[in-house]
Amino acid sequence: MAAKFIDGRRIAESIRDGVRRELEELQRLGAPVCLVTVLIGEDSASQSYAQSQARAAESVGIAHRRIELRPGVSTDAAIADVRRLNLDPAVSGIVVQLPVPATIDAFALQQAIAPEKDVEGVSATSLGRLLLGRDCLSPCTAAAAMECVRSTGVDLAGKHAVVVGRSGIVGKPVAALLLAANATVTQCHSRTISLPTQTQRADVLVVAAGRAGFIGREHVSPGAIVIDVGTNSVTSDDGKHRLVGDVRTDEVCEIASWITPVPGGVGPVTVAMLLANLARAAKAAAGR
Ligand code: NDP
Repeated sequence: MAAKFIDGRRIAESIRDGVRRELEELQRLGAPVCLVTVLIGEDSASQSYAQSQARAAESVGIAHRRIELRPGVSTDAAIADVRRLNLDPAVSGIVVQLPVPATIDAFALQQAIAPEKDVEGVSATSLGRLLLGRDCLSPCTAAAAMECVRSTGVDLAGKHAVVVGRSGIVGKPVAALLLAANATVTQCHSRTISLPTQTQRADVLVVAAGRAGFIGREHVSPGAIVIDVGTNSVTSDDGKHRLVGDVRTDEVCEIASWITPVPGGVGPVTVAMLLANLARAAKAAAGR
């Protein structure tokens, strides 16, 4: 059986179309829609993430502001800045771009974002509400993985979903979303014994381990849906860098029913989910 590829770029475009429609309504109401990215220091990865957020926001007509704090800023001073943004009615959503300098308590800073402006869904309140089945802005990557699953048309009720990874930003929230969709969920991590025995039981396998090519044919049962969240930069023999996932796609696509490619799978949908969360936050602020 040859797997069908889940086209993340197409899913992302369809989400962006929905966001554009919501923005038209917000514009009619005169409601502000603005994403603010807070950057601390000069980390090149953070700078480049902030640039992609700006481009993504602009692609649907959302205003974007970038606030750069000096590298030596204290955690308390940075928190005070975030709190000012919380109170600013012109700001719909706030992203604290990681990594930040080691002198900053990144966790504390993220917790300072008001839940209604936490468009990345990174605060303990957002994750707690998600676990409790309450309305919240979901972590973007986890929500993107779910969009990829849903695009296959599978009814998750009663299906066995296995998640490899238990980080607060991907593994745990994706498990919570799968559970909320009535899947039976197994969560695996680095201390899981006999990983293939667990993953082979999956109707839906979500992999977020951050290890290039870690999941192969021996981990997957015929017909499984495989969502590869991994984004790993590897250097080819010719010295060029390229992005690969956690799954050996060439092997697994021979037995899975559906699979996300890397790049072009979960990644583009994650960016679109950020915009969707932003539109949702702006609508809620406008009382819609
Ligand atoms: P973390 O490093 O925070 O978590 C990795 C998880 O994988 C941990 O829970 C770890 O277990 C588990 N793990 C590591 N090795 C093994 C193993 N041998 N067997 C089973 N489990 C293992 O990574 P993130 O969750 O932040 O990210 C995961 C991947 O997703 C990365 O490649 C990242 O780049 C990518 N990513 C992609 C995004 C996108 O938009 N597409 C966005 C965010 C992340 P333990 O807890 O025991 O250490």
